[in-house]
Amino acid sequence: MIFNVMTLFPEMIEDAMNTSIMKRAMEGEYIELKTFNIRDYTLDKHNKVDDYPYGGGAGMLMQAQPVYDCYKAITENKDKKPRVIFVTPQAKVFDQAKAQELAKEDELIFLCGHYEGIDERVLEEIVTDNISIGDYVLTGGELPALVMMDAISRLVPGVLNNEDSSVTESFDDGLLEYPQYTRPEVWNDKKVPDVLLSGHHKNIEKWRYEQSVLRTKERREDLYKAKFGENI
Ligand code: SAM
Repeated sequence: MIFNVMTLFPEMIEDAMNTSIMKRAMEGEYIELKTFNIRDYTLDKHNKVDDYPYGGGAGMLMQAQPVYDCYKAITENKDKKPRVIFVTPQAKVFDQAKAQELAKEDELIFLCGHYEGIDERVLEEIVTDNISIGDYVLTGGELPALVMMDAISRLVPGVLNNEDSSVTESFDDGLLEYPQYTRPEVWNDKKVPDVLLSGHHKNIEKWRYEQSVLRTKERREDLYKAKFGENI
């Protein structure tokens, strides 16, 4: 998987990606990160990339030209144009199903907005997918792009040591994951549930499923209803 990130703050993306599992995934060449500083593509002699919005209003907008030229530079020698994801609060919220869909691509481009956003005309030209990470407004698109790249990378074969750990997780079957415990057996007077120490795999599986259902019902009624229907 190749991630191309168009941003005004490439160091923010690189610093975060050069840590822990993402770093190992890049070293193992399961994923590749290419950052592009949109400012490098401006034709403005003062290196400006933003301007006032027509019609007035607060803040500045990123201009179309540097964004478009940056996109052209990324894609000019590619036969197949990768999907371009504009991270924006004005879209459906990213979820595990979307991560699974995007993990099937060989290459993606993320476009990170800043200030009050980006001139609509260039978005119309290049964006294939608008995706939000939640119904709140952040200062820039770098954190959303990182969130999505992290979730997608975990689904790329080879990125996680034990591939099982990405197939029995929250959301995979429409349920949240069951509670988990590790050593010691007793901590702060709290004991690990007996069934997990029993070695009886069928009972453990049953207990985990029941706990998943219970947890989903308690914490995410919307998911619970989607899975079992309104009347349960
Ligand atoms: N004026 C815009 C609006 O009301 O929709 C918000 C602009 S925001 C301050 C700057 C940039 O941060 C956006 O262009 C987008 O790229 C990114 N951003 C902010 N919140 C986001 C979210 N919840 N999900 C994805 N991207 C977000």
